[in-house]
Amino acid sequence: MEKNCMFCQIVKGEKPADLVYQDDSLVAFKDIRPHAPVHLLIVPRKHIRSVNDLAEQDRDIVSEMIFRAKEIARGQGISQSGYKLIFNIERGGGQVIFHLHMHLLGGW
Ligand code: AMP
Ligand code: ZN
Repeated sequence: MEKNCMFCQIVKGEKPADLVYQDDSLVAFKDIRPHAPVHLLIVPRKHIRSVNDLAEQDRDIVSEMIFRAKEIARGQGISQSGYKLIFNIERGGGQVIFHLHMHLLGGW
């Protein structure tokens, strides 16, 4: 838990979010400012600042994020129409929340 991290607060249930999935290692919730008909954020419970801060022991969680995104996309009915999985990395890459997350966008 990182002090003042909004996504730490959401994964701990201290701040509300529209959750669509959760398990021991990650949560998925609706983006508050959607850029697509389906716009979800897939967020590890562990506080990792950005892709640049991934460590060897984080390999499993990155893998889980992508595999879970595939399942969530299927559950949302957007697998066949198509979707994007996006990491924004550092300020120049558009990252504004410094707790690792992957955008799942689709439903067009
Ligand atoms: P990024 O630019 O990759 O850091 O994306 C951060 C995303 O988090 C943006 O798309 C925001 O709309 C979204 N966001 C910020 N605060 C919240 C919140 N409280 N609940 C859901 N999504 C949020
Ligand atoms: Zn955090």
